Amino acid sequence: MSYVDEVIERVVKENPAQPEFHQAVKEVLESLRVVIEANEEMYRKEAILERLTNPERQFIFRVPWVDDKGNVQVNTGYRVQFNSAIGPYKGGLRLHPSVNIGIIKFLGFEQIFKNSLTGLPMGGGKGGSDFDPKGKSDREIMAFCQSFMTELCKHIGADTDVPAGDIGTGAREIGYMFGQYKRIRGVFEGVLTGKGLSYGGSLARTQATGYGLLYLTEEMLKCNGKDIKGKICAVSGSGNVATYAIEKAIQLGAKPVTCSDSTGWVYDPDGIDVAALKEIKEVKRARLTEYKNYRPNSEYHEGKGVWSVKCDIALPCATQNELDIEDAKQLVANGCMCVAEGANMPTTLEATKYIQDNGLLFSPGKASNAGGVATSGLEMSQNSERLSWTFEEVDEKLHGIMVNIFHSMDDAAKKYGMEGNYVAGANIAGFEKVVDAMLAQGVC
Ligand code: NDP
Repeated sequence: MSYVDEVIERVVKENPAQPEFHQAVKEVLESLRVVIEANEEMYRKEAILERLTNPERQFIFRVPWVDDKGNVQVNTGYRVQFNSAIGPYKGGLRLHPSVNIGIIKFLGFEQIFKNSLTGLPMGGGKGGSDFDPKGKSDREIMAFCQSFMTELCKHIGADTDVPAGDIGTGAREIGYMFGQYKRIRGVFEGVLTGKGLSYGGSLARTQATGYGLLYLTEEMLKCNGKDIKGKICAVSGSGNVATYAIEKAIQLGAKPVTCSDSTGWVYDPDGIDVAALKEIKEVKRARLTEYKNYRPNSEYHEGKGVWSVKCDIALPCATQNELDIEDAKQLVANGCMCVAEGANMPTTLEATKYIQDNGLLFSPGKASNAGGVATSGLEMSQNSERLSWTFEEVDEKLHGIMVNIFHSMDDAAKKYGMEGNYVAGANIAGFEKVVDAMLAQGVC
């Protein structure tokens, strides 16, 4: 049996009931097959794939907190420190009821390659909790965040592990967590990114993932002889990534016509009104049913349906496995020419294959959503320098990083005879640097 198949089999056997982790490992290792087979003897001897698929360290902890009725609630907290070959662990904290160790491991594993692709010195990690921030008061959110950080602060630090936001963790949650870290550890340091501007946050971090997605998409289209101007975009999600993807798409002359949340979706034939979207989601923290009050011409539908809309570009920006094979068939039938992932692993393996087989451009999340972590890396640099850069400086660096990421994955795909296969290209480019560092550092 080949080394790749052996390791996939072992990961499935040793990590039961973690389908998302299995899926991520399969996706990465399958696409690396040609590189691994070319070096099979050495990689096997060095146990490179066993080391890569086993986190360096994992923490699972109790998070007790008191709700507004005075009752004690208990959630589970996680932090997986996956790989520190090229820098301190870096990756977000997800707060969502669906969170479990398998989901955190899939995200942490993907993060290794994504961080490597940015060209910045950051290792891979991820964390979170099954806590649901929806419907909680500010006081309850603070109580949870403080309790979560009371344990987490023992394992992180500006030079060891630097968490950030993710689903359910925005500026408010990062603020409460930062305050608690400082209170317990007694140090003011860049231990979290996505911080508020008044205490060490970076300008453009809020916009970075969505903007970065569009910078990479624009470059990918350009290098394939296409222009983003005038293109219709279907976007899913209405959180941080989706909102700023929509904003940048409009700035680049495209027309995003959809957005969604976990209960329904909006179709606005005149183009999404990003100011209305921000007011509903960021200010009122309300549901998308409100959108119609701002734009009477729009439609609101319950359930899932964004991918049924005719579009040129699809930008999945909500969550994992939200675009399945039926959605992919619909996109292809409707003449879509490009799918660029804003979320982490939003496209199922089957759907990805169908999209690629039908000749659409496809950029994997680990490349196209890397703008968020890249700008977190820039926030770390500013914290270390004790300086703040302007919005334009950060945005320009972000743009350069996204263009470089596109060319790294494009070049890697070409080098191994897989031109246009950006899934393979992104994995190969990310993998080569991490493996090089692991080999140089010996058995550890
Ligand atoms: P947010 O919490 O800001 O928004 C998430 C959006 O997705 C919301 O609209 C939410 O709807 C929707 N959503 C969440 N879970 C589901 C579900 N199970 N089914 C349908 N819709 C769902 O998160 P972000 O925008 O920050 O993150 C979105 C994706 O991007 C995630 O995959 C994340 O890992 C990834 N990502 C984020 C980065 C960042 O910088 N923020 C960086 C790189 C990747 P509702 O409000 O109803 O829950």
